Formats: sequence, C-alpha cells, structure tokens
Amino acid sequence: MEQETVSKNFIEQMIDQDLAEGVYENVCTRFPPEPNGYLHIGHAKSILLNYGIARKYNGTFNMRFDDTNPTKERVEFVESIKEDIQWLGADWGDRLYFASDYFEKMYEAAVSLIKKGKAYVCDLSADEIRAYRGTLTEPGKESPYRDRSVEENLRLFEAMKNGQVADGEKVLRAKIDMASSNMNMRDPVLYRVAHMNHHNTGDDWCIYPMYDFAHPLEDAFEGVTHSICTLEFEDHRPLYDWVVREVGFAHPPRQIEFAKLYLTNVVTGKRYIKKLVEEGIVDGWDDPRLVSIAALRRRGFTPESIRMFIELCGVSKAQSSVDYAMLEYCLREDLKLKSERMMAVLDPIKLIIDNYPEGQTEELEVANNLENEALGSRTVTFGRELYIEREDFMEVPPRKYFRLFPGNEVRLMQAYFVRCESFVKDENGRVTEVHCTYDPETKCGSGFTGRKVKGTIHWVAAKDAVQAEVRLYENIVDEEKGVYNEDGSLNINPDSLTVKQAYLEPALAQAEPYDSFQFVRNGYYCVDAKDSREGRPVFNRIVSLKSSFKLPKA
Ligand code: ATP
Ligand code: MG
Repeated sequence: MEQETVSKNFIEQMIDQDLAEGVYENVCTRFPPEPNGYLHIGHAKSILLNYGIARKYNGTFNMRFDDTNPTKERVEFVESIKEDIQWLGADWGDRLYFASDYFEKMYEAAVSLIKKGKAYVCDLSADEIRAYRGTLTEPGKESPYRDRSVEENLRLFEAMKNGQVADGEKVLRAKIDMASSNMNMRDPVLYRVAHMNHHNTGDDWCIYPMYDFAHPLEDAFEGVTHSICTLEFEDHRPLYDWVVREVGFAHPPRQIEFAKLYLTNVVTGKRYIKKLVEEGIVDGWDDPRLVSIAALRRRGFTPESIRMFIELCGVSKAQSSVDYAMLEYCLREDLKLKSERMMAVLDPIKLIIDNYPEGQTEELEVANNLENEALGSRTVTFGRELYIEREDFMEVPPRKYFRLFPGNEVRLMQAYFVRCESFVKDENGRVTEVHCTYDPETKCGSGFTGRKVKGTIHWVAAKDAVQAEVRLYENIVDEEKGVYNEDGSLNINPDSLTVKQAYLEPALAQAEPYDSFQFVRNGYYCVDAKDSREGRPVFNRIVSLKSSFKLPKA
C-alpha cells in the first residue's frame, strides 16, 4: 500500500470524512470577495487554500463576486481582483459568477420562507430592532409584527420589492428564536430596502439581501460543497445552516472556518490603507511598501514566492501572526536560482586604475548565475575608470575590514586584483576618487594561483554604465514603536523610502517591467511597472540578500 507522506490540514480531514460518508460526491470550493477594495496577502491565503483544495480533490473552483451591497462596490475593484487572482495562479476557467445574478432566485427563496411561515416583514426601525435583540445575557423581545399572516407578509414583501416602501421603513426578517443564546439567530434581517443603483443590475432592484442570507444561498445555488471562510463567521454558522435547510436544498453546502492570516508590523486594514493613499504617504494601493497583491507584484514578489509562503503558513483554527521576514525568505528561495546576478553600484565613487592603459577596454565573459548554468553568460566591459560602492573604501579601516584601504589589495569581481595607492577628497573631506594599480597576472579565470586576497568587491565600468533610479524600501510603519499609536493612528516610519541614483551594467537598461535580478552583494531588485520608461528602468528593491530569519521548525 502506498504510504501517506503529506500530512493533511484539518479542512482536508473534514473533506475526506464527508467524501467517505457519501455526504458529497465531489468537491466544489469558491473564493467570494466583495468588490469593495484591493486584495491583500490575507486574501491570497483564502484564494490559494480554496483553489488548492479544489485541485487536490479533482473538484471545481468558483470565482464569485459577492456584490450584494451596492453602497461600497465598484467595477474598478472587480477588474483588479480578477487580475490579482489570475496572477496568483488560481484558474477559475469558465466558473466566474456574480452574486447579483442570483437576485431573482434569492427573492424566490425569501418568498418560499414567508410561505413556510419562516420569515416576516417587520416595521421596527433599525434602532428598535437593535433594542429588541437583547444582550448576550438577556433574551431578546419578539417584534409586534412577528405574527403577521403569510398573505400579509407576501403582500408587504412584494410592495418592498416594487419600490412602494422607503429605505429603512420595513425589513424582511427570519422567524427563528428571539431567546437563542446565539445572537445571530434572533430573527436576523434577511432583506432591506435600499433605493440604490447597483453596478451590475442597475435600478432593477430596490431591496437587497443581507450577507448572512445571501452567502449560503450563493454557495448552494452553485453547488459549492465546502464553504471555507474565516473564524469571525463561526457564530454565523447556525444561521448559514438554517438558511440552506429551510430553503430546502438537497445537498446543502457546509461552512468551515479557519484563522485569518496576519503579518507582524504590516497594515492590511482597508481603512488605514485608504488613509495612507489619501494623505499621499504612499503612491496608491499598489505602492510597493503595502501588502496588497498589486503592491507585492509591483515590488517584485513572484506568485511562486507567495504560494510557498502560504504553504509554509499552514491552515489552523488558532489566530496568530506570521513574521514578514518569512515572506522575504520565500522570495529569496524562489529567485536564488531563477534570477541573473548583475553588478550595480548604488552609492558610487570612482575607482581609477592608474596603470591601466588609457583608452583601452576589454570585454569579460561573466556567468549570469554561478549556481545555475542554464542562465548562460554575458560580457561586461572593463576599463580604467570604474564605479565602486562608497562603503567598499575606507581611509582608516576598522579591524576585519578586508575591502579597499590605502595599501590593501582586493579582487574586483570577475576581473583583476587591484591595490589601493591613494585617494582624492573634495573640500568637504568627502572621498571622490580612489586610485589603484592592477596586476594583469591576476585576471579572473586565468589560472593565477599566486597570492590570495580576502576581499572581493563589485564594480561597473564608468564608460558604459547606465544611471538609474533605485528605490529602497523599509516597513511603512515604525517597527520599534508598533503599528498603531494609542489614538489608533499609524506610527509612520519616515524612512520607508530611500531613492538612489545608481550605476548599473548597461544590459540592465533593457530590462522590462517586472523583470527581476540579483544585484550582487546587495539584494533582489525588480523593474517598477509604473514609473519605468523605455530604456530607463526604475528598480525596486524587493528584499536584501541577508537576513537573520530562520525557518520555524515544523
Ligand atoms: P472587509 O473588511 O471589507 O469585510 P475582507 O477582507 O473580509 O474585507 P472580503 O472580500 O469579504 O474582504 O474577503 C473575501 C474572502 O477573503 C473572505 O472569504 C474572507 O474570509 C477572506 N479573507 C479576508 N481577509 C483574510 C485574511 N487576513 N486571511 C485569510 N482570509 C481572509
Ligand atoms: Mg468581509
């Protein structure tokens, strides 16, 4: 017999049991976003979980917009959500649905409840309904309209539908139990009147179903078997079950809850992000410092890295926060072998090789990724004048500093050994040039086996280097102080963006939006899709090379 090697999460165990007991014959899951904002990394968890389960069980995956509340929904969000989900690799095929397409069927379902004596039209105001609801310790009070006849309810509900009732004047409520220990079961509102234009159905409807009524129906209409949602809906499950049972579905879906994904020191709340956007602190919902899917994509995260991250996070019932560094770890793992390793100097100073013939250059053959031969090689120009990183030279080196300082010899990556002979400062005492001599015998790959050097530094030739804007990001909130102030405002990190004018290898000028590279000794960088121009890329640092992050033991 084949050994079970992969451990299953609790949702899969429940599904296995349902299939074994014959509750369902196949598996159908869905992702049901409300098109009222952009998706973020938390949604990615829900998307990949639902899609992954459908795949694993050879089932189906539905993409459904839960667009039953016209107040906050916009077409712009429908498009961005589709783009994000496609990018993540969740393929819904031809199974794209809109909850608003079911308004007629939902209305019929409500009518059927009225006919069964399970729903009634109530004239109490919103405030009165709240007051009648009772508290966690006290039972609620029944509405004086609770015992209306079926005929009267049918007539009134139709009047609501036909636009003869003003907003807030009447609602349709389920008739369940005002004394239930679960507040959600105390005659919840199923339909409200709202004379509003809907992005899909226009002015066809002036009554709209409430989430707790609409959602189970949407699932049931589509033949969803496992309706996977987050923990805050656990208390709503009895109502979910009530709706699908009373409306009379033969194979009602089953709701299963899991814990939301939270990242430490990261802002995901729509309210907060909206504020950051409106106050101009960030450059839109896709600012690379945010964790919306669009922002992560723009920053340079890959779908593979996000899938790996979600996989590592696992699925559980316990609320917890995951370190952002784990997401960065996944990105490094993904790009390590995939990306070309290029030389880029972010904080340049000039290095001049005094004994290298003036006017001469040579082309050096350089591997694109030493760990992955398949990425091939390229040539880089070497010459008398180069740029190196300012921090790779020190006038007075501290202990264990093996890079350039007067008298010291280092290797120029992929090229020659150079010895620092002198340097030039400007009137402010700032170093402007480092002068060296090179040893032609030490050419990389020449088989030179003489003396050794301890430091290797990268460089680009001044002759053909291209200048480009490079953006370094830090967390948008101040990690030391915590995400929120006492008054609930955000603790903004003033240094979350640093812009550099860097010198790059000329090949990088041709990079296309979303292309990513390793800048050797530094980090992973991606071409910004919004601000780059043909031949003039802008680079975003996705993540630096080094980290103290260790993968938690399973
Ligand atoms: P809102 O705060 O406006 O309700 P939302 O983030 O819940 O926003 P929805 O469009 O309702 O947005 O979410 C779609 C799905 O994504 C839901 O099934 C929800 O449970 C799930 N989801 C939302 N946030 C997370 C998260 N942090 N982790 C995992 N799943 C999430
Ligand atoms: Mg929600």
